[in-house]
Amino acid sequence: MNVERVSVRSILTRTSGFLASVTSHSAQPYRGCSFGRSACGVGCYARHNRWITQGRPWGEFLDARVDADRSYRTHVARERAWARRARGEFSIFLSSSTDPFVPQERTLRVTHSLLLAMLDEPPDAIVVQTHTDRVLDELDTLRALAARCRLRVHLSIESDLDTLPGLPPPAASVDRRFAAASALKAAGLRVVVTVSPLWPIADPDAFFARIAACADAVVLDHFIEGDGSRDGARTRSTALPAAIAAVDSGANALAHRDRMAAIARRHLPDRVGVNIDGFAGRFGGP
Ligand code: SF4
Repeated sequence: MNVERVSVRSILTRTSGFLASVTSHSAQPYRGCSFGRSACGVGCYARHNRWITQGRPWGEFLDARVDADRSYRTHVARERAWARRARGEFSIFLSSSTDPFVPQERTLRVTHSLLLAMLDEPPDAIVVQTHTDRVLDELDTLRALAARCRLRVHLSIESDLDTLPGLPPPAASVDRRFAAASALKAAGLRVVVTVSPLWPIADPDAFFARIAACADAVVLDHFIEGDGSRDGARTRSTALPAAIAAVDSGANALAHRDRMAAIARRHLPDRVGVNIDGFAGRFGGP
């Protein structure tokens, strides 16, 4: 893993495409992701973004934006004004193409400093998206921020399976991520489990019952319609569909998502979001 300390011109990126209906801005404390060589990295859509990778292998580089907090303080007033005028509110997705709690965060503290800057100048809303229980390192900061703006933590748990045949181990085990969801919820935070991308699920009833016990809502996001490309073409070019098919050949079709959503609704009535609607906090529906 090649870790570099870099400067960022503006940590607040105005969203476009599918993210534009979720938040007005995204913030990436890191460029690249240390979890890129774990199970989630195989189907990660960020790995296809050449602007991010600059030709480097996904999961083998991490650019730490060590002045992210300074950049936030510099640009927040202008971006808040733009967001409220153009999008109705100033909201931040942290993060869409890295994990804010990569292992290097414990020493580099880029996300931590950025969260402190947000505490001083809070957005109207923030979505914290992660694949790891390391989010608990910032429990106190997140609680303080939740007192100043609408905050929800999205914890990605793709399945009740830790990994799939041929894929590497996960960034954090399913059990550890469920434990983190429970701890966040117990601390009074709003928690959404994002089943993204949806994998085969060994025992769907038990899985969604477990989510219902520790989260406010669940999002089901199939790579078809969910990876930003037509018919999931990006993900189809990776090893993920074959790994999914090795467990459940039907799980590569949207019908799998619809079957899982029907089971999820039995356990979380009116608290199931599908694809981008779920990420945007829009639950319920057919
Ligand atoms: S943690 Fe997120 S950004 Fe990082 S490799 Fe996994 S899916 Fe991609």
